[in-house]
Amino acid sequence: MQGTRPGKLPPPSRSHGEGRVCAAEGCRTELSRYNPSIHCWQHADVIFPTYRGKRLSPGTGKA
Ligand SMILES: [Zn+2]
Repeated sequence: MQGTRPGKLPPPSRSHGEGRVCAAEGCRTELSRYNPSIHCWQHADVIFPTYRGKRLSPGTGKA
């Protein structure tokens, strides 16, 4: 058989890095290194606020 080599997948620890936090404004939730998203699970479904320019909740972006 061909193409059935043992898995040579890269280690997940090199995929995203550690110490990342959610990219949502005001959110400091740490992201798992296994989480490919830049947002925590709470904001994972949120569309980039800068993409629309409206729908921003005033007073929530202060760190
Ligand atoms: Zn978040």
